[in-house]
Amino acid sequence: MLVFDPPRRGKPPRHLADLDPDERRAAVAALGLPSYRADQLSRHYFGALRRLPAEMTDLPADVRDALAAGLLPALVEVDRTLDCDGGATRKTVWRLYDGTRVESVLMRYPDRTTVCVSSQAGCGMACPFCATGQAGLTRNLSTAEIVEQVVAAARDAATGALGDGPTRLGNVVFMGMGEPLANYAAVLGAVRRIVDPAPAGLGLAQRHVTVSTVGLVPAIERLTRESLQVTLAVSLHAPDDELRDTLVPVNTRWKVAEVLDAAWEYAGVTGRRVSIEYALIRGINDQAARAHALGALLRGRLTHVNLIPLNPTTGSRWTASDPRDERAFVRILRSYGVSTTVRDTRGREIDAACGQLATGAGVVPNLGE
Ligand code: SAH
Repeated sequence: MLVFDPPRRGKPPRHLADLDPDERRAAVAALGLPSYRADQLSRHYFGALRRLPAEMTDLPADVRDALAAGLLPALVEVDRTLDCDGGATRKTVWRLYDGTRVESVLMRYPDRTTVCVSSQAGCGMACPFCATGQAGLTRNLSTAEIVEQVVAAARDAATGALGDGPTRLGNVVFMGMGEPLANYAAVLGAVRRIVDPAPAGLGLAQRHVTVSTVGLVPAIERLTRESLQVTLAVSLHAPDDELRDTLVPVNTRWKVAEVLDAAWEYAGVTGRRVSIEYALIRGINDQAARAHALGALLRGRLTHVNLIPLNPTTGSRWTASDPRDERAFVRILRSYGVSTTVRDTRGREIDAACGQLATGAGVVPNLGE
């Protein structure tokens, strides 16, 4: 199937963040250096968030240069950044080694700082309401290309780039461009680098990492077996197959019931509450009857519903629900005992909100707002 088999364009150069600690030691030995240099380099990169060899002053200059040349290629470069929400939200457009562009979004909240990262350039899932889905899939990102987005965000947070002084990056959501579970191995590698304690990785709490999926059932089952405590989010958007077939085309392969079964299995094994994402689209999936159907499906489950007011995307005729319908939807779900909140619409005016990431779109002000 085309969506799982992106065009090959060669591989990004190998980077420290692609490797686990053993592989790093082997790579350092292959450069002709003692293997403890791997730990030193890891401490600089994951512990102190340093990237430039010149900052690694405890390493002799020739060692520094050899390590940097062998293990720290420039994988991502800032193409441009766009800020909004008084500087509390920053979208970064990254240029990758082969000229491909992807985006990540860093968000500062009163109680936490979160980055939303891309796992693929483009996306093959073709959901008609999502800007990323319209352009199709360009290619999978490597583990290090994903980790670099996170490390850069951690650096930005730590240096106070979001204003209001430094903060600590605590949360990572795989909700940027792409379908994370269609790039399984690279995403799992990135998750491990994000949660493994320094110097192996960044040492973020597993529970503060969220992997979001359209519902690739075999990959959800595989994730269930990883012995991780990351949060699983399922982009449901409709309680019935007839509508979901049109909103999330992969539903023609794995139906609502199968996706939810896999989700409940994940919740059962990990003890983690599964997030259900539901973009409210006016007149399409926001009727009271659908809220009741959804409530009946989710009643009594270890779950939380995130309703997302539809964000406008270029060329789409769909729009967000009437606020009264949105309130009714929340009320009905809660009447089934289903924990439900409405997600904020951070970053809309810089095309950085859910479903708006499509490189190129960000240069044009969003006149729909
Ligand atoms: N492919 C994965 C990861 C992307 S997460 C997934 O679909 O889960 C991005 C989230 O934003 C998904 O829940 C997606 O369905 C939702 N989304 C996409 N377009 C949107 C839009 N225009 N408005 C609101 N949410 C949208």
